[in-house]
Amino acid sequence: MEQQLNQLKEEALGAIRSADSVRSLNDIRVKYLGKKGPITDLLKGMGKLPAEERPKMGALVNEVRGKVTEVLEARMAVLEEEAVSRKLEAEAIDVTLPGTPAGTGNHHPLTRIVEEIEDFFISMGYEVAEGPEVEKDYYNFEALNLPKGHPARDMQDSFYITEDVLLRTHTSPVQARTMEAKEGQPFRIICPGKVYRRDNDDATHSHQFTQIEGLVVGENIRMSDLKGTLDRFAKKMFGEEREIRLRPSYFPFTEPSVEMDISCFKCGGEGCNVCKGTGWIEILGAGMVHPNVLRMGGYDPDVMSGFAFGMGPERIAMLKYGIDDIRHFYTDDVRFIAQFHRAEG
Ligand SMILES: [Zn+2]
Repeated sequence: MEQQLNQLKEEALGAIRSADSVRSLNDIRVKYLGKKGPITDLLKGMGKLPAEERPKMGALVNEVRGKVTEVLEARMAVLEEEAVSRKLEAEAIDVTLPGTPAGTGNHHPLTRIVEEIEDFFISMGYEVAEGPEVEKDYYNFEALNLPKGHPARDMQDSFYITEDVLLRTHTSPVQARTMEAKEGQPFRIICPGKVYRRDNDDATHSHQFTQIEGLVVGENIRMSDLKGTLDRFAKKMFGEEREIRLRPSYFPFTEPSVEMDISCFKCGGEGCNVCKGTGWIEILGAGMVHPNVLRMGGYDPDVMSGFAFGMGPERIAMLKYGIDDIRHFYTDDVRFIAQFHRAEG
C-alpha cells in the first residue's frame, strides 16, 4: 500500500507539472483529491488494515495529500498569473497605432457666402441687424407700403399662422423694425436671414431660402450712392473687372426701383450658358426707399432719404460655385458640403 501511495503521488505531481492551464489543473484536482479520487479510496480502505498499521498509513496518506495539494496550489498560482498577463496583453492599447480619423466639419456654402457679403458691408460701416422669422403682417407688408389688398402681396405667396402673423416672406420687415428703433437717426444696416414662401420646390425654387437686404437712411442719400455701393459689391464678389448695369424695375417699397446685372464672369460678356447668351447676369433688386416707407418708419421724406437692396445668397452661391440645383443647399448631404472644404483654406 505504501508503494501504491508513492506511485500515486509521483503520478499526480507529474500531471500537475505538465498542466498548462487553470482548467486542466482543476481537472487534476478533481481526479486525485476529489471525493471519488484514489486518495479517498485509500482512506476508505484503511478499515481493512490491522489496527497497529492504521496510524502510520493514515499519516502517510495525509502526507501525500498535503504534498499534492501544496504543489497544485503553487502551480495554480503561476497559471493564474499567466492567464492574467495574457489577458492584459490581449487588451493592451498600442498608442503608436494610427487612430480612427474624426471627420472635421466645414462651413456650409451658404454660410460662407453670407459671411463674405457681411464682411464686405461691415467694412463699409454697416451694422448687421436681425429680426424674427415669425412676423407680424404689419412689419412684413403694411410698414413696407403694402397695405391689405395691395396687388403686390400676391407676388409673395405667404404661410399665414393667424390672420395677422405669418412666416416672413422677405427680410424687409427687419428694415421696418430698425427704422422704428433708430427713431429718426441715420443708419446703415444689412439683414441676413431665412425667409419663407409657398412655392413648389424644384431646381430653382425652395419654400425656404435666405435673403440679405441692405438699407441706408440719412440726409442726402442719392441714387449715385446706391450705384457706387453696388458697383463695389459686384467687383468684390465677382472680380474687379465686372461691370454693372441697372435696369428699371418695380418693388412696392422703393421708388425708383432697379434690377442690377453684372457682366458675365464666365464669358466676359460675349454670351454663354451661364448668362444665357446675353452677356449679363441678374444679381439683385434695389431702389430708393419709398417716401411712404420712410414716413411709416418715423422719418420725414423731405429731410431724409435712403436706398435699399436685396439679394438671394443661394443664387449668388449657385453662380459662384456652379451649383445647378437649389435643393442641394437644404438636403444636408455631407458629400455636397464637403466639396467646399478645400476652398475653406
Ligand atoms: Zn456668359
